[in-house]
Amino acid sequence: MSYVDEILEQVKAKNAHEPEFIQAVTEVLTSLRPAIERDEEKYRKEAILERIVEPERIVTFRVPWVDDKGQAQVNRGYRVQFNSAIGPYKGGLRLHPSVNQSILKFLGFEQVFKNSLTGLPIGGGKGGSDFDPKGKSDREIMAFCQSFMTELYKYIGKDTDVPAGDIGVGAREIGYLYGQYKRLTGLYEGVLTGKGLAYGGSLVRTEATGYGLLYITNEMLKSHGDTMEGKTIVVSGSGNVATYAIEKAYQLGGKPVTCCDSTGWIYDPEGIDVALLKEVKEVKRARLTEYAAARPSAQYHEGRGVWTIPCDIALPCATQNELNLDDAKTLVANGCKVVAEGANMPTTLEATEYLQANGILFLPGKASNAGGVATSALEMSQNSERLSWTREEVDAKLKDIMVNIYHNLDDTAKEYGVEGNYVVGANIAGFKKVVNAMLAQGIV
Ligand code: NDP
Repeated sequence: MSYVDEILEQVKAKNAHEPEFIQAVTEVLTSLRPAIERDEEKYRKEAILERIVEPERIVTFRVPWVDDKGQAQVNRGYRVQFNSAIGPYKGGLRLHPSVNQSILKFLGFEQVFKNSLTGLPIGGGKGGSDFDPKGKSDREIMAFCQSFMTELYKYIGKDTDVPAGDIGVGAREIGYLYGQYKRLTGLYEGVLTGKGLAYGGSLVRTEATGYGLLYITNEMLKSHGDTMEGKTIVVSGSGNVATYAIEKAYQLGGKPVTCCDSTGWIYDPEGIDVALLKEVKEVKRARLTEYAAARPSAQYHEGRGVWTIPCDIALPCATQNELNLDDAKTLVANGCKVVAEGANMPTTLEATEYLQANGILFLPGKASNAGGVATSALEMSQNSERLSWTREEVDAKLKDIMVNIYHNLDDTAKEYGVEGNYVVGANIAGFKKVVNAMLAQGIV
C-alpha cells in the first residue's frame, strides 16, 4: 500500500467520528501524491505524514457565562494548535452552534497550508466555540467573550499563538477578547488580529479576505488573457468575506448579482447595493429580507439557490460544503467559467472534481482566501514595530501576496505536470515549505 493510502486509512480509523477532518485530509493527501511519491522513503522514515495530520495540541474547555435573564449558560471552547513549524499558530476563532472538534481540526489543518502559501512566517491553528451569537445582546456577547478568554489566555501569546476572527467573530468580539486578555495578563501585545484601528488593528484587515479573493481571481483571469470587466458574478454569504468580495468585484469592473444568509438569498439583477448590504448586515445585524424591502430591484427567496443564477464567475463565501455536485452541474450548464472559493472548503470534493473535469478554472480557498490571514500577519508585523502602515501600503502588500500566491500555484502545478490544477498546485506548494521546516527541526 502506498504511504498516502496507509495514512488515509489510519486517519479514517483514528478519527471515524470526524467527517469534515477526514474530508480535508483526504482532499489534501490525495492531491499531494506526486510530491510525496518523489520522496516517499524519506518521508516514511521521518513519519512526516503521521505528524502533519496530528495537531500539536488541542485544548478544550468549559465556557460558563450568565445571560440577560440571570440564567447561567455553558458552552464548549476549543483551540486547535495544529502546526508551528514555520511560525506561531495563526488562525481564526469561530462562534457558531455547529462548531465541534472535527470542524476545527479540518479548518486548522487547511490553515497550515494556507499560511505557508502566504510566504509569511505563520503556523496553523483554529479555535472557537459552539456558542451562537445570533440574537444575543452586546452584554451577553461580552460576558461570553470574557469567559472564553479567561481560559484561552493561558495558551496564546504574540509569539506562540495569535487568533483572529472567523464566522461569528468580528471587530466587536475581538475587542472584548482583547480587553480581557490585557486585563488578565497586563500585556498590551499583538495577541489577536482583526483589532480595531484605535488599538493596534491594521487598515484593510476588514476588507482583506474579500479583496484578496478578487485580486487572485483577477490575476488568474489576466494570465488566461481575460479580465473581470463586465463579468456577472454570483456570490454566496453576506458576511465579512462576501461583502468585501462584492465591493472589490465592482472596483475591478465586475457585476455581483447575488448574496445569501442562512435563511434566504437575494438576486439583484441591477447588481448588489454594497452600501445597503453593509447597512443591513454590519450596522443593523438584520436579515436579508430588510435588504429586499429597501431595494425594489431585489428578489428575495427563502432557502438556498444562488448557484441557479447564470454567471461567469461564482464566489462561494459563506461556509463549508455549500456548493455540492448538483450546484456544480447547474453552474457548468449555465456557462460559468470560474469558481474561486472565499469560504473554507465551500465546494464538496465531488463538486470540485466535476468543475475541474468540465474546464472550470477553480481556485481553492486555501489559496484564494489567504488574503485575510496574510493581512493578519501584516498586522502582527505592525504591532511588533509599534507602527501603523497606510491603507495604500497594506493594500499594495496584500495585492502582491495574492499575485505571488497565484503564480506559485500555477508554477507548482506545471512543475508536477498538472497545469491549471490549482488544487494540486496549492497543496503541494504549501506542503513543501512546511515539510522542509519540519525535516530541518527534527522529530518534534
Ligand atoms: P461571517 O460570519 O461574517 O459571515 C458568514 C456568512 O455566511 C453569513 O452571511 C452567514 O449567514 C452565511 N452562512 C453561514 N452558514 C450558512 C449556510 N449554512 N447557508 C447559507 N449561508 C450561510 O463569516 P466570514 O465572512 O468571516 O466567513 C465566511 C467563510 O470564509 C467561512 O468559511 C470562513 O472560515 C472563511 N474565511 C473567513 C476569513 C475572514 O477573514 N473572515 C478568512 C478566510 C476564510 P447568517 O448570518 O445567517 O449565519
